[in-house]
Amino acid sequence: MSIRINQNKCIGCKRCCDSCPGTLIDIQNNKACMLYPKDCWGCASCVKECPVGAIDFFLGADIGGNGSTMHVEGKGDILNWQITKPDGETKIITINRKDSNKY
Ligand code: SF4
Ligand code: SF4
Repeated sequence: MSIRINQNKCIGCKRCCDSCPGTLIDIQNNKACMLYPKDCWGCASCVKECPVGAIDFFLGADIGGNGSTMHVEGKGDILNWQITKPDGETKIITINRKDSNKY
């Protein structure tokens, strides 16, 4: 499974459901639920669309993640990717959507 949904943060906006190319997420009792975790290929579309940072993306060992997770808190074109290591240490990487889509 590449993502984990924090249902305490989820506001049921459905943006993750609409953005998932595999239709893997649905809303149940006003909260997003991952229905087919084994089918997730980790594209991170849902992570970027979530307006409240409720979706954690697991960073696999193949890219040196070693149990770290990443979620995004966006403001307009600015996306703040917060990486949380297993020991609780965090790092924030800020990306401007306009710059990343420039090419
Ligand atoms: S990471 Fe991609 S494939 Fe996986 S649930 Fe999110 S949008 Fe769907
Ligand atoms: S995008 Fe985020 S807040 Fe909206 S339904 Fe999905 S997990 Fe919940």
